[in-house]
Amino acid sequence: MKIPFLNLKHINQAYQSRIEEAIRRVINSGWYLQGEENNRFESVLSEQIGCNYVVGTGNGLDALRLIFRAYIEMGLLKVGDEVIVPANTYIASILSISENGLIPVLVEPDIDTYNISPEKIGVSITNRTKAILVVHLYGLVCDMETISRIVKSKGLLLIEDNAQAIGAELNGRKTGNLSDAAAFSFYPGKNIGALGDAGAVTTNNPELANLIKALANYGSSKKYINKFKGINSRLDEIQAAILNLKLDDLNDITERRRTIARRYCNEIKNSNLVLPQWPRDKMKHSWHLYVIRSNYRDALMKFLSEKGIGSMIHYPTPPHKQEAYKEINNLSFPVTEEIHKTILSIPLHQCLSEKEIDFIIKALNEFKPNDAE
Ligand SMILES: *Cc1c(COP(=O)(O)O)cnc(C)c1O
Repeated sequence: MKIPFLNLKHINQAYQSRIEEAIRRVINSGWYLQGEENNRFESVLSEQIGCNYVVGTGNGLDALRLIFRAYIEMGLLKVGDEVIVPANTYIASILSISENGLIPVLVEPDIDTYNISPEKIGVSITNRTKAILVVHLYGLVCDMETISRIVKSKGLLLIEDNAQAIGAELNGRKTGNLSDAAAFSFYPGKNIGALGDAGAVTTNNPELANLIKALANYGSSKKYINKFKGINSRLDEIQAAILNLKLDDLNDITERRRTIARRYCNEIKNSNLVLPQWPRDKMKHSWHLYVIRSNYRDALMKFLSEKGIGSMIHYPTPPHKQEAYKEINNLSFPVTEEIHKTILSIPLHQCLSEKEIDFIIKALNEFKPNDAE
Protein backbone atom coordinates (compact mmCIF):
# COMPACT_ATOMS: atom_id res chain seq x y z
CA MET A 1 0.00 0.00 0.00
CA LYS A 2 1.20 3.53 -0.78
CA ILE A 3 -0.16 6.27 1.49
CA PRO A 4 1.29 9.72 0.78
CA PHE A 5 1.37 12.12 3.72
CA LEU A 6 -1.11 14.36 1.95
CA ASN A 7 -2.80 13.93 -1.43
CA LEU A 8 -4.08 17.33 -2.52
CA LYS A 9 -5.08 16.06 -5.94
CA HIS A 10 -7.34 13.46 -4.33
CA ILE A 11 -8.84 16.03 -1.96
CA ASN A 12 -9.55 18.53 -4.76
CA GLN A 13 -10.87 15.98 -7.24
CA ALA A 14 -13.87 15.56 -4.94
CA TYR A 15 -14.75 19.17 -5.90
CA GLN A 16 -13.57 19.11 -9.50
CA SER A 17 -16.83 19.68 -11.39
CA ARG A 18 -18.06 22.24 -8.86
CA ILE A 19 -14.71 24.08 -8.96
CA GLU A 20 -14.82 24.17 -12.77
CA GLU A 21 -18.33 25.57 -12.62
CA ALA A 22 -17.29 28.19 -10.05
CA ILE A 23 -14.32 29.30 -12.14
CA ARG A 24 -16.54 29.56 -15.21
CA ARG A 25 -18.95 31.71 -13.21
CA VAL A 26 -16.12 34.07 -12.23
CA ILE A 27 -14.76 34.26 -15.78
CA ASN A 28 -18.19 35.14 -17.10
CA SER A 29 -18.83 37.73 -14.39
CA GLY A 30 -15.99 39.85 -15.80
CA TRP A 31 -15.11 40.90 -12.22
CA TYR A 32 -12.02 39.35 -10.63
CA LEU A 33 -11.27 41.13 -7.34
CA GLN A 34 -13.42 42.36 -4.45
CA GLY A 35 -16.71 41.21 -5.91
CA GLU A 36 -19.64 38.93 -5.11
CA GLU A 37 -17.51 35.86 -4.31
CA ASN A 38 -15.52 37.85 -1.72
CA ASN A 39 -18.75 39.18 -0.20
CA ARG A 40 -20.15 35.68 0.09
CA PHE A 41 -16.85 34.34 1.51
CA GLU A 42 -16.77 37.07 4.15
CA SER A 43 -20.36 36.50 5.20
CA VAL A 44 -20.09 32.68 5.28
CA LEU A 45 -16.86 32.72 7.30
CA SER A 46 -18.21 35.32 9.72
CA GLU A 47 -21.28 33.14 10.29
CA GLN A 48 -19.18 30.02 10.82
CA ILE A 49 -16.74 31.65 13.21
CA GLY A 50 -19.37 33.75 14.96
CA CYS A 51 -17.49 37.04 14.60
CA ASN A 52 -18.84 40.27 13.09
CA TYR A 53 -16.18 41.10 10.49
CA VAL A 54 -14.08 39.15 8.02
CA VAL A 55 -11.54 40.60 5.60
CA GLY A 56 -10.18 38.33 2.85
CA THR A 57 -6.42 38.67 2.24
CA GLY A 58 -3.88 37.29 -0.19
CA ASN A 59 -2.53 34.71 2.28
CA GLY A 60 -2.20 33.88 5.98
CA LEU A 61 1.08 35.71 6.58
CA ASP A 62 -0.44 38.90 5.18
CA ALA A 63 -3.50 38.44 7.42
CA LEU A 64 -1.16 38.35 10.43
CA ARG A 65 1.06 41.23 9.36
CA LEU A 66 -1.95 43.41 8.48
CA ILE A 67 -3.33 42.94 12.00
CA PHE A 68 -0.09 44.25 13.54
CA ARG A 69 0.20 47.02 10.96
CA ALA A 70 -3.37 48.14 11.69
CA TYR A 71 -2.72 48.26 15.43
CA ILE A 72 0.33 50.44 14.71
CA GLU A 73 -1.81 52.80 12.59
CA MET A 74 -4.38 52.89 15.42
CA GLY A 75 -1.64 53.91 17.86
CA LEU A 76 -2.13 50.80 20.01
CA LEU A 77 1.30 49.40 19.08
CA LYS A 78 4.52 51.15 18.15
CA VAL A 79 7.89 50.12 16.74
CA GLY A 80 9.96 48.47 19.47
CA ASP A 81 7.02 47.06 21.43
CA GLU A 82 7.33 43.43 22.50
CA VAL A 83 4.93 40.73 21.30
CA ILE A 84 4.88 37.33 22.99
CA VAL A 85 4.75 34.35 20.61
CA PRO A 86 5.39 30.60 20.99
CA ALA A 87 8.98 29.55 20.20
CA ASN A 88 7.89 26.36 18.36
CA THR A 89 5.45 27.94 15.90
CA TYR A 90 5.74 28.02 12.12
CA ILE A 91 8.07 30.91 11.29
CA ALA A 92 5.28 32.97 9.62
CA SER A 93 3.86 33.91 13.04
CA ILE A 94 7.19 35.44 14.03
CA LEU A 95 7.83 37.10 10.66
CA SER A 96 4.56 39.04 10.99
CA ILE A 97 5.87 40.60 14.21
CA SER A 98 9.44 41.42 13.23
CA GLU A 99 8.39 42.72 9.83
CA ASN A 100 6.39 45.47 11.56
CA GLY A 101 9.36 46.58 13.66
CA LEU A 102 7.94 44.89 16.74
CA ILE A 103 10.07 42.59 18.90
CA PRO A 104 9.07 38.91 19.03
CA VAL A 105 9.58 37.49 22.52
CA LEU A 106 9.72 33.73 22.17
CA VAL A 107 8.07 31.67 24.89
CA GLU A 108 8.34 27.91 25.40
CA PRO A 109 5.36 25.60 24.85
CA ASP A 110 4.10 22.89 27.20
CA ILE A 111 5.46 19.54 26.07
CA ASP A 112 2.04 17.86 26.57
CA THR A 113 0.08 20.20 24.30
CA TYR A 114 2.80 21.80 22.11
CA ASN A 115 0.96 25.08 22.77
CA ILE A 116 2.38 28.18 24.47
CA SER A 117 2.77 27.76 28.24
CA PRO A 118 0.64 30.26 30.20
CA GLU A 119 3.07 30.09 33.18
CA LYS A 120 5.98 30.96 30.94
CA ILE A 121 4.01 33.84 29.40
CA GLY A 122 3.69 35.25 32.91
CA VAL A 123 7.44 35.41 33.50
CA SER A 124 8.20 36.80 30.02
CA ILE A 125 6.07 39.94 30.36
CA THR A 126 7.99 43.21 30.71
CA ASN A 127 6.77 46.80 30.67
CA ARG A 128 7.40 46.81 26.90
CA THR A 129 5.04 43.84 26.30
CA LYS A 130 1.99 45.07 24.40
CA ALA A 131 0.47 41.96 22.79
CA ILE A 132 0.34 38.17 22.77
CA LEU A 133 0.10 36.21 19.53
CA VAL A 134 -1.19 32.74 20.40
CA VAL A 135 -0.97 29.93 17.85
CA HIS A 136 -3.46 27.04 18.04
CA LEU A 137 -0.72 24.73 16.83
CA TYR A 138 -1.68 21.59 14.90
CA GLY A 139 -5.32 22.62 15.52
CA LEU A 140 -5.41 22.39 19.33
CA VAL A 141 -6.94 25.38 21.13
CA CYS A 142 -4.52 27.19 23.47
CA ASP A 143 -5.37 27.64 27.15
CA MET A 144 -7.35 30.78 26.31
CA GLU A 145 -9.02 31.10 29.73
CA THR A 146 -5.70 31.54 31.53
CA ILE A 147 -4.18 33.60 28.73
CA SER A 148 -7.24 35.91 28.59
CA ARG A 149 -6.88 36.54 32.33
CA ILE A 150 -3.22 37.53 31.87
CA VAL A 151 -4.12 39.77 28.92
CA LYS A 152 -6.88 41.50 30.90
CA SER A 153 -4.79 42.06 33.99
CA LYS A 154 -1.89 43.54 31.97
CA GLY A 155 -3.97 45.44 29.38
CA LEU A 156 -2.45 43.63 26.38
CA LEU A 157 -3.80 42.92 22.91
CA LEU A 158 -4.59 39.27 22.18
CA ILE A 159 -4.25 37.96 18.62
CA GLU A 160 -4.80 34.41 17.33
CA ASP A 161 -2.84 32.72 14.60
CA ASN A 162 -5.69 30.44 13.52
CA ALA A 163 -3.99 29.16 10.35
CA GLN A 164 -4.16 25.55 11.57
CA ALA A 165 -7.31 25.57 13.66
CA ILE A 166 -10.31 26.49 11.51
CA GLY A 167 -13.27 24.62 13.03
CA ALA A 168 -11.71 24.22 16.51
CA GLU A 169 -13.75 25.32 19.55
CA LEU A 170 -13.54 26.24 23.21
CA ASN A 171 -16.77 26.13 25.25
CA GLY A 172 -18.83 26.23 22.04
CA ARG A 173 -16.96 29.26 20.68
CA LYS A 174 -14.86 28.93 17.57
CA THR A 175 -11.17 29.80 17.46
CA GLY A 176 -10.79 33.01 15.51
CA ASN A 177 -13.40 34.50 17.85
CA LEU A 178 -11.49 34.15 21.13
CA SER A 179 -9.36 37.31 20.90
CA ASP A 180 -9.16 40.84 19.50
CA ALA A 181 -8.32 39.64 15.99
CA ALA A 182 -7.35 36.42 14.26
CA ALA A 183 -5.57 35.36 11.09
CA PHE A 184 -6.64 32.42 8.91
CA SER A 185 -4.70 30.70 6.12
CA PHE A 186 -6.21 28.83 3.19
CA TYR A 187 -2.86 27.59 1.87
CA PRO A 188 -3.61 24.45 -0.20
CA GLY A 189 -2.50 22.05 2.55
CA LYS A 190 -4.60 23.61 5.33
CA ASN A 191 -7.90 22.01 6.43
CA ILE A 192 -9.76 24.31 4.03
CA GLY A 193 -7.37 24.93 1.16
CA ALA A 194 -7.53 27.19 -1.89
CA LEU A 195 -5.89 26.27 -5.21
CA GLY A 196 -3.16 28.77 -4.46
CA ASP A 197 -2.74 31.35 -1.70
CA ALA A 198 -5.56 32.86 0.35
CA GLY A 199 -6.12 34.16 3.88
CA ALA A 200 -8.49 36.15 6.08
CA VAL A 201 -8.71 38.27 9.21
CA THR A 202 -11.62 37.91 11.64
CA THR A 203 -12.50 40.44 14.36
CA ASN A 204 -15.42 42.03 16.19
CA ASN A 205 -13.83 45.48 15.96
CA PRO A 206 -15.29 47.49 13.03
CA GLU A 207 -12.50 50.10 13.08
CA LEU A 208 -9.84 47.39 12.86
CA ALA A 209 -11.71 45.58 10.05
CA ASN A 210 -12.05 48.75 7.95
CA LEU A 211 -8.44 49.68 8.52
CA ILE A 212 -7.20 46.23 7.45
CA LYS A 213 -9.40 46.33 4.38
CA ALA A 214 -7.84 49.67 3.41
CA LEU A 215 -4.26 48.62 4.26
CA ALA A 216 -4.67 45.51 2.08
CA ASN A 217 -5.80 47.73 -0.81
CA TYR A 218 -2.87 50.21 -1.08
CA GLY A 219 -4.09 52.03 2.02
CA SER A 220 -7.21 53.13 0.23
CA SER A 221 -10.91 52.68 0.96
CA LYS A 222 -11.92 54.99 -1.87
CA LYS A 223 -10.38 54.56 -5.30
CA TYR A 224 -7.35 56.85 -5.81
CA ILE A 225 -7.60 58.28 -2.29
CA ASN A 226 -4.74 56.88 -0.22
CA LYS A 227 -4.92 57.43 3.50
CA PHE A 228 -2.12 54.97 4.43
CA LYS A 229 1.03 53.55 2.86
CA GLY A 230 -0.68 50.22 2.31
CA ILE A 231 0.11 46.99 0.54
CA ASN A 232 -1.72 44.91 -2.07
CA SER A 233 -3.06 41.74 -0.49
CA ARG A 234 -6.55 40.90 -1.67
CA LEU A 235 -8.34 37.60 -2.03
CA ASP A 236 -8.93 36.67 -5.69
CA GLU A 237 -12.54 36.08 -6.74
CA ILE A 238 -11.57 32.66 -8.13
CA GLN A 239 -10.02 31.57 -4.83
CA ALA A 240 -12.99 32.98 -2.90
CA ALA A 241 -15.39 31.01 -5.14
CA ILE A 242 -13.43 27.79 -4.48
CA LEU A 243 -13.29 28.46 -0.74
CA ASN A 244 -17.05 29.09 -0.68
CA LEU A 245 -17.60 25.52 -1.94
CA LYS A 246 -15.27 24.07 0.67
CA LEU A 247 -16.51 26.17 3.59
CA ASP A 248 -19.93 24.59 3.11
CA ASP A 249 -18.25 21.30 4.09
CA LEU A 250 -16.27 22.67 7.05
CA ASN A 251 -18.23 20.73 9.67
CA ASP A 252 -18.11 17.44 7.75
CA ILE A 253 -14.40 17.78 7.03
CA THR A 254 -13.63 18.60 10.65
CA GLU A 255 -15.78 15.75 12.00
CA ARG A 256 -14.12 13.28 9.63
CA ARG A 257 -10.68 14.41 10.83
CA ARG A 258 -11.84 14.00 14.45
CA THR A 259 -13.05 10.47 13.76
CA ILE A 260 -9.68 9.49 12.31
CA ALA A 261 -7.78 11.14 15.17
CA ARG A 262 -10.00 9.32 17.67
CA ARG A 263 -9.09 6.00 16.05
CA TYR A 264 -5.38 6.85 16.21
CA CYS A 265 -5.64 7.88 19.87
CA ASN A 266 -7.56 4.71 20.81
CA GLU A 267 -5.80 2.15 18.66
CA ILE A 268 -2.13 3.13 18.46
CA LYS A 269 -0.45 1.33 21.34
CA ASN A 270 3.32 1.43 21.34
CA SER A 271 5.53 2.38 24.30
CA ASN A 272 8.09 3.93 21.93
CA LEU A 273 5.58 6.56 20.83
CA VAL A 274 3.94 9.49 22.64
CA LEU A 275 0.51 10.31 21.17
CA PRO A 276 -1.20 13.68 21.30
CA GLN A 277 -3.73 13.87 24.12
CA TRP A 278 -7.42 13.98 23.28
CA PRO A 279 -8.37 17.54 24.32
CA ARG A 280 -10.38 18.33 27.47
CA ASP A 281 -14.19 18.14 27.07
CA LYS A 282 -14.79 21.83 26.51
CA MET A 283 -12.24 21.89 23.67
CA LYS A 284 -12.70 20.66 20.11
CA HIS A 285 -9.55 20.09 18.05
CA SER A 286 -9.39 20.73 14.29
CA TRP A 287 -6.75 17.99 13.89
CA HIS A 288 -4.85 19.85 11.20
CA LEU A 289 -1.93 17.57 12.05
CA TYR A 290 -1.64 14.37 14.07
CA VAL A 291 1.77 14.79 15.68
CA ILE A 292 3.39 11.95 17.58
CA ARG A 293 6.72 12.00 19.38
CA SER A 294 9.45 9.39 19.65
CA ASN A 295 13.04 9.24 20.84
CA TYR A 296 13.57 7.14 17.71
CA ARG A 297 11.94 9.62 15.32
CA ASP A 298 14.34 9.22 12.40
CA ALA A 299 14.17 5.42 12.58
CA LEU A 300 10.37 5.65 12.74
CA MET A 301 10.23 7.88 9.69
CA LYS A 302 12.39 5.41 7.75
CA PHE A 303 10.32 2.44 8.96
CA LEU A 304 7.06 4.10 7.83
CA SER A 305 8.56 5.08 4.51
CA GLU A 306 9.61 1.46 3.85
CA LYS A 307 5.97 0.48 4.41
CA GLY A 308 4.86 3.14 1.90
CA ILE A 309 3.51 5.55 4.55
CA GLY A 310 4.45 9.22 4.14
CA SER A 311 5.21 11.33 7.20
CA MET A 312 6.53 14.86 7.79
CA ILE A 313 8.17 16.94 10.51
CA HIS A 314 6.36 20.13 11.54
CA TYR A 315 8.93 21.64 11.84
CA PRO A 316 12.49 20.34 11.58
CA THR A 317 14.23 23.59 12.66
CA PRO A 318 12.81 26.00 15.25
CA PRO A 319 12.65 29.67 14.17
CA HIS A 320 15.33 30.78 16.66
CA LYS A 321 17.79 28.40 14.95
CA GLN A 322 17.09 29.73 11.45
CA GLU A 323 19.60 31.93 9.67
CA ALA A 324 16.83 34.52 9.16
CA TYR A 325 16.90 35.08 12.95
CA LYS A 326 20.66 34.92 13.46
CA GLU A 327 20.42 37.63 16.13
CA ILE A 328 18.69 35.09 18.41
CA ASN A 329 20.47 31.89 17.28
CA ASN A 330 22.25 31.83 20.65
CA LEU A 331 19.03 31.70 22.72
CA SER A 332 18.12 28.40 24.30
CA PHE A 333 14.61 26.91 24.33
CA PRO A 334 15.08 23.32 25.56
CA VAL A 335 11.41 22.24 25.30
CA THR A 336 11.12 23.64 21.79
CA GLU A 337 14.39 21.99 20.75
CA GLU A 338 13.29 18.66 22.21
CA ILE A 339 9.99 18.90 20.29
CA HIS A 340 11.70 19.67 17.01
CA LYS A 341 14.01 16.66 17.49
CA THR A 342 11.32 14.10 18.32
CA ILE A 343 8.05 14.96 16.54
CA LEU A 344 6.58 13.31 13.46
CA SER A 345 3.25 14.00 11.71
CA ILE A 346 1.43 10.99 10.29
CA PRO A 347 -1.22 11.12 7.51
CA LEU A 348 -4.56 12.59 8.58
CA HIS A 349 -7.02 14.04 6.08
CA GLN A 350 -10.64 13.55 5.11
CA CYS A 351 -9.90 11.33 2.09
CA LEU A 352 -8.09 8.54 4.01
CA SER A 353 -9.96 5.23 3.67
CA GLU A 354 -10.64 2.86 6.61
CA LYS A 355 -8.19 0.41 5.01
CA GLU A 356 -5.46 3.04 4.92
CA ILE A 357 -6.16 4.03 8.53
CA ASP A 358 -5.99 0.35 9.59
CA PHE A 359 -2.68 -0.02 7.76
CA ILE A 360 -1.17 3.08 9.41
CA ILE A 361 -2.27 1.96 12.89
CA LYS A 362 -0.92 -1.56 12.34
CA ALA A 363 2.44 -0.22 11.14
CA LEU A 364 2.80 2.09 14.13
CA ASN A 365 1.94 -0.73 16.52
CA GLU A 366 4.61 -2.91 14.94
CA PHE A 367 7.40 -0.33 15.12
CA LYS A 368 10.42 -1.30 17.22
CA PRO A 369 13.38 1.09 17.33
CA ASN A 370 16.06 -1.39 16.22
CA ASP A 371 14.02 -2.62 13.23
CA ALA A 372 15.06 0.31 11.16
CA GLU A 373 18.71 0.36 12.14
C1 LIG B 1 0.29 28.23 7.24
C2 LIG B 1 0.60 29.06 8.41
C3 LIG B 1 0.79 30.45 8.33
C4 LIG B 1 0.94 31.19 7.04
O1 LIG B 1 -0.10 31.07 6.16
P1 LIG B 1 0.16 31.29 4.58
O2 LIG B 1 -1.21 31.32 4.03
O3 LIG B 1 0.97 30.12 4.11
O4 LIG B 1 0.88 32.58 4.43
C5 LIG B 1 0.95 31.16 9.49
N1 LIG B 1 0.96 30.55 10.68
C6 LIG B 1 0.82 29.22 10.80
C7 LIG B 1 0.83 28.62 12.17
C8 LIG B 1 0.65 28.43 9.68
O5 LIG B 1 0.52 27.11 9.82
